[in-house]
Amino acid sequence: MSQHRSEITDDKNASLPSQPKICIVGGGLSGLATAYRLHRLLPDASISIFEATSRVGGVIHSERCKDYLVDHGADMFATNPPAAMRLCEELGVVDDLIEPLVKGRGAKIVNGGRLVALPEGFVLMRATQLWPMVRTPLLSIRGKLRFLMERWIPVKTSRGQDEQDESIGDFVRRRMGHEMLDRIVAPLTAGIYTADIDRLSMLATMGPIAKMETTHGSLAKATSERRKSGEDSVERNSAGARYSQFRAFPEGMVQLIESLVSHLPAEVINTDTKVLSLSRSTVEGWNLSLKTDDAERCESFDEVVLATPPRITSNLLQGICPSAASLLADIEASSVAIVVLGVKQTQIARPANCFGFVVPLSEKRKILACSFASEKFRGRAPTDRVLIRVFVGGAMQPELLQQSDQELSNLVREELFELIGLSGEPEITQVVRWHEAMPQYHVGHLDRVAKIESELTEVEGVTVVSNSLHGVGISPVIGQANTAAAQIASRLNSSSDPSS
Ligand SMILES: Cc1cc2nc3c(=O)[nH]c(=O)nc-3n(C[C@H](O)[C@H](O)[C@H](O)COP(=O)(O)OP(=O)(O)OC[C@H]3O[C@@H](n4cnc5c(N)ncnc54)[C@H](O)[C@@H]3O)c2cc1C
Repeated sequence: MSQHRSEITDDKNASLPSQPKICIVGGGLSGLATAYRLHRLLPDASISIFEATSRVGGVIHSERCKDYLVDHGADMFATNPPAAMRLCEELGVVDDLIEPLVKGRGAKIVNGGRLVALPEGFVLMRATQLWPMVRTPLLSIRGKLRFLMERWIPVKTSRGQDEQDESIGDFVRRRMGHEMLDRIVAPLTAGIYTADIDRLSMLATMGPIAKMETTHGSLAKATSERRKSGEDSVERNSAGARYSQFRAFPEGMVQLIESLVSHLPAEVINTDTKVLSLSRSTVEGWNLSLKTDDAERCESFDEVVLATPPRITSNLLQGICPSAASLLADIEASSVAIVVLGVKQTQIARPANCFGFVVPLSEKRKILACSFASEKFRGRAPTDRVLIRVFVGGAMQPELLQQSDQELSNLVREELFELIGLSGEPEITQVVRWHEAMPQYHVGHLDRVAKIESELTEVEGVTVVSNSLHGVGISPVIGQANTAAAQIASRLNSSSDPSS
């Protein structure tokens, strides 16, 4: 995942001669984090967030259901890049954050219908320890030999389809062989991006690993260097993800949203207000047409931030920057359902003893990944109970989302019966659907984003902030919001400076 471009420090300028009017379309994390930063940088500005639904937070939401605490979307964030941690410090909630539990850290992979532990030290697509790779039953002898040859595979000078980038599928097949891809890397990556591995961009999602190839000649050589310098100390003690680098909130990820909201003046947030269109004002600035339950109205703003999913942003930009609109329309987003089950521990005949597992496509199952939320963080389920979140659909099995909630929970229970021996009625069952919520960073993504941003320089006063550009994770999204807010503040400050 690429990271935001720069870290921003507050530079308050309370001396703007007039009160600039800024509007933010979309009240998800992108919109709220931008509003928060703008409010810090331009305390005199009039800021309005317009959110189409009845609550802010977008895909981030948590709720209590009986004695379980259910995160409907994200359930943790990475401490690196540091933007999310820094925001938590500013918001005064950093001491509330909780770390993943120590017992049970690690992920498994379904292999021939059984759950097999990921080799110790294997993170994303890199093995930082050799011996566990030699011993793993996930690869055949031939697959292991092919993996061990990675050190001698030449660096590809031109990368795949568009000379710059290539898919994760092509990269891993080329360097480590198809078994490594199909049985380990593809399910792990699909678990994060719910994506088609043969379309997902290496540079946009695994940039640092692509760079290891070009800098060191192979991932194996890069890993040797990093081991000597101690850079891989966290990875060497992890399996699947670097769990020590994740944090969560005791009452779920919604606490981040609530905290942001509590730092904004109440009048900033307008829920149940859908933005229908955006056009250039005949005087100066931008006109927005807004729809609430009872009326439609038009309002004018000096600056507009579009913090909506790519398809909506594309529609809103159609009349004012068709080239950027068409490039944004090319960024697809996958849909996913999370089936949440709360069960007694005794209902699981074969406990997985890990934080979760992922499922390779070759297993021909109907679930993508399964997370044991109550094993990862304390406070998610009562004693002797387990909170399970199972991901279904994504880019590779979108047809499954045609099924009803009842059908989806039935199919998940059937899969979990076979994989962990789950039986009996769950105490809670929820099906949460996220339609086109996960932007897909396909091959060429970085070029596409550079073109979008270059086209947008032609429409001064309109900024796009979104998880569809520079990283889908919570931390990169906050980093992008900081950068965008700083650019807007600097533009408004310089336009109000009579000497400029
Ligand atoms: C299932 C799932 C699990 C995830 N898990 C993690 C995780 O564990 N860790 C992590 O770091 N990241 C995770 N992510 C990613 C991260 O949560 C998101 O990238 C981020 O929250 C997106 O925020 P956003 O504001 O860009 O988009 P959104 O949350 O989609 O917000 C966009 C908002 O715009 C509003 N809107 C749309 N159209 C209009 C309109 N016309 N007018 C007004 N408002 C409009 C929408 O209603 C919505 O509220 C996950 C994402 C998903 C979907």
